[in-house]
Amino acid sequence: MCRHIGYVGAPLPVGEILTRGTHSLRVQSYAPAEMRSRARVNADGFGAAWWHPASGGAGSQGQRNGHPRVVAARYRNAAPIWTDPAVDEVLVQLVSRGILGAIRSATSGMPVERAACAPFVDGVWAFSHNGHVPDWRAVLTAVCADLDALALRAGSAGLFAAELLLTAESPTDSATVWTLLARLLRAEFVAGPAEALRLLCAAILAHAPTSRLNFLLSDGETLWATTVHHSLYALLTPESAILSSEPYDDDPAWLPIEDRQLVCARPGELSSTPLAAEPNDPA
Ligand code: GLN
Repeated sequence: MCRHIGYVGAPLPVGEILTRGTHSLRVQSYAPAEMRSRARVNADGFGAAWWHPASGGAGSQGQRNGHPRVVAARYRNAAPIWTDPAVDEVLVQLVSRGILGAIRSATSGMPVERAACAPFVDGVWAFSHNGHVPDWRAVLTAVCADLDALALRAGSAGLFAAELLLTAESPTDSATVWTLLARLLRAEFVAGPAEALRLLCAAILAHAPTSRLNFLLSDGETLWATTVHHSLYALLTPESAILSSEPYDDDPAWLPIEDRQLVCARPGELSSTPLAAEPNDPA
């Protein structure tokens, strides 16, 4: 299993979020406290995403809600995070209002390579998956068919041909789940990121009920997460919101999130609704 952390708030160095606290994400890579699987370390690589203005300037293409459009950038390495000096020497130089960090323990049988390390990014989106989809090739092929049926019922053309699965960056469950989620995030029949996550979890769990689906998604301003099996905690201040697989320190303000929740967090705001509930999503 893996661990992840998302931050939104006042600008912070990317490297700081990876190393902050006595039980930082970097410490969790060799001494995690809450592993709910057989894995004991998270040594199969790591990654971090941050947000910066899209190149192309301030033309209409470069604007989003009146603000300059931002895109997610990332750094990944298939080596353990504690071996990479870039964390202290380079990632501390990059400052962002949104940060998403992940450390990986490859599911047995899956490749250990940089392309398999989260965050996965596409435009403004960055994504991480802590968990496992059993028999993922068959299950995600069936999920494609279900999502296509849903799209057709909503009057959209089919968007989820199984070939989509072949476009995944790496032959892993997580990279392939990301191809589906990235498509859902662009689909007209889906109201927003919370609904995209809800639809995807429901479709995967319908075919593989023992799946472990702790997802973490951000556009650099808001964090969305799901809890299916693994741990997740929130730490809120008026200026920031953090969602993390494990608390990085002993601050009593860390709030444990229950299992099977869909969480949405922004500075000073946290909402959590049961995943199985009817879509009435946090923004
Ligand atoms: N199944 C994913 C992978 O192998 C995530 C692993 C995890 O959560 N440990 O990359």
